[in-house]
This record gives sequence, C-alpha cells and structure tokens, in this order.
Amino acid sequence: MAHRGRRQQERRAAASVTTPMPEFDLIARIHARAASRGDVVLGIGDDAAILRLPPDRDLVVAMDTLNTGVHFPEDTAPADIGWKALAVNLSDMAAMAATPAWCTLSLSLPQSDAVWVDDFLDGFLALAAQHEVALVGGDTTRGPLSVCVTIHGLVEPRGALRRSGARVDDDIWVTGTLGDAAGALRQWQTGIAIDPVLRARLDRPTPRVAAGFALAGIAHACIDVSDGLLADLAHVCRASRVGAALDVDALPASDALRDAFDRETARALQSAGGDDYELCFTAPKTARISIESALFGCDVPATRIGRVTADAGLVVLHDADGGAWSPPRRGYEHFGG
Ligand code: ADP
Ligand code: MG
Repeated sequence: MAHRGRRQQERRAAASVTTPMPEFDLIARIHARAASRGDVVLGIGDDAAILRLPPDRDLVVAMDTLNTGVHFPEDTAPADIGWKALAVNLSDMAAMAATPAWCTLSLSLPQSDAVWVDDFLDGFLALAAQHEVALVGGDTTRGPLSVCVTIHGLVEPRGALRRSGARVDDDIWVTGTLGDAAGALRQWQTGIAIDPVLRARLDRPTPRVAAGFALAGIAHACIDVSDGLLADLAHVCRASRVGAALDVDALPASDALRDAFDRETARALQSAGGDDYELCFTAPKTARISIESALFGCDVPATRIGRVTADAGLVVLHDADGGAWSPPRRGYEHFGG
C-alpha cells in the first residue's frame, strides 16, 4: 500500500528525541529480549544461526519488507511497526498452511535509537511469543527506516496450500472482514479523524495462522490478501488457470467500515483496498461443513463470496441483484502507474 499524507512534513518535524547507541549494544539488547525454542541449536550471536529441522517436515521460507511511507504511515508507532513486520510474514505462512518456527530481522534505521528499538521489539516480540516464533538472527544497518523479516516455517510434505490448486465450481471464501485497513488509510490520507477500530486493523493485522493450518487438506488453493482481494484472487486464478465470479454484496464488512463509508466506497475498499491479511481460499462445495467446523475451532469467521469459473484469468463481480459491478481500481501495485 502507498501512504502519502499531506501532513508528512509536520510529522517528520515532530520526530521524537532519540537515544543513540552503538550497533553492537543495539544487537545485545535485541539478543537479551529474544526468546528461543528447543530446536534452535544456535541463535543470535554468531555468524549464522543453526536450526534443527524435524526429519518429516519440509521447510517453508518467506520474506517481506516494510518501508516507511510505503507500507505504513510515517506516524505509525514503533511497536505497531514491529507487530506488522512480523504479522505480514506470518500471514504468508498462514496462506501456505505452514507452522511458523523461526525468523530473522533486518533493521535499517536512520539513527541508532535504543528507545525506538525497545518499542519496536515490544510489538514484534509480543506477536512472536503468541506464535512461538524464535528470532534467531538478523542485520542492523544505518539507512532510511526499513524492516525486512524472513520467516521460516514447517509443513508436512505435500501438505502446503498453494495458489495453483483452485478447481472450476469451487466455492471462494474469505476469512474475517475486508477493507478495514484500507478504510483507515483513506481517512489518514484525507486528514479526517481515523476510526480507532479501523486504525488497529491497519497497524496490527491478525495473521490467520491457525485458520490456514486448519484448512490444510480441505481447501484447494489459498492466498493471503495483502494487495487487495481482486488483485490477490487474480493471482490464484492465473496460477490455477481458472476464473472467478464474486458477489460484491457478500464481501464481509465490519460495522466500523459500514459506519464510516457510503456503500460504494466501502465496496471499493473491500474489493481493492489492501493490507487486510485475511485468507482467500477455494474449496469444493462438499467441504462447506468441514470448513465451518475447522474455522469455528480456531475462532475465525469465514464467508463464501463467490465461485470458481472456467473463464481463465477473468475475475467478474456482480451485486446482490445480479447486475455487473466494476471496482474503481483492482489493487495496489508498487511499480504501477
Ligand atoms: P556479522 O558481522 O557476522 O554479520 P553482525 O554483527 O551483523 O554479524 O551480527 C551479530 C549477531 O547478531 C548475528 O548473530 C546476527 O544474526 C545478530 N543480529 C544482528 N542484527 C540483528 C537484528 N536486527 N535482529 C536479530 N539479530 C541480529
Ligand atoms: Mg560474521
């Protein structure tokens, strides 16, 4: 997502007081706070980490970067940046039905600021603890604020969910609600008061790790919604050589989103906004009951929003009355116009 607010400069001018500290001390601070786990043979402190893999699992690896002003507004609290940097990576594990285990963290900081790093770790390590993920190494450099995380997870051989498994006539489902994060961003960009519920969804997305795991063996294909539902579903369609027909009025919306925006704006945010970190997956119609019980077991709601069609590469939308509906735009592209 892109974040360009007209109040950026004022915010930058109001940047907080910093506590400089040598790089080595910063790393020692990170080391002191990072929890380990039994399969970490060697964690932070040497030239590389050593991790013990179970013999009956495949290793699943993903990396995601957050750049200031591109992936989060400049006024985002350091703890929220820490949370989100890990959350977006955990979300990739969720989409593969993998169990996250270890991560590494590359931090680029404009100045060596111990207070900022402590606050950042509050968010990062709180989420890591929730998912029993060990921070096992990283890199700390000077430069524009940027956070890059690599996550390592485990999956049973052939147990991962892929983008390429969707089949014609599958149901299309999505977890949680869509458009909340994009709604907060819209409010931030237009300078109006930001709804705290929406802002929390932007700053602290909930990676659907348990849901992804529960869907293994049931769903045919899965992706996490990071760039907007339509853009991400298009990836599934391309990889699976199928199309999709969606009911725009079936897209799940939070009360906060409904209260804050008119119907057309809400539809646009839900279908093409980004940063939701919900799972979009396809599954056979015969699996409806198993899906509902699997997701009920992890307390994650899911909604059926459409079906897979034979029109390869084509994602079409209709409204509740069956009329065609087109979004103002399809999703966020970093190098798009
Ligand atoms: P090297 O020069 O050998 O690459 P570094 O001085 O960069 O080593 O790092 C020393 C140790 O601290 C390594 O184990 C590295 O993985 C760890 N480390 C450095 N930065 C971070 C960070 N931001 N988060 C976690 N571990 C880090
Ligand atoms: Mg070294």
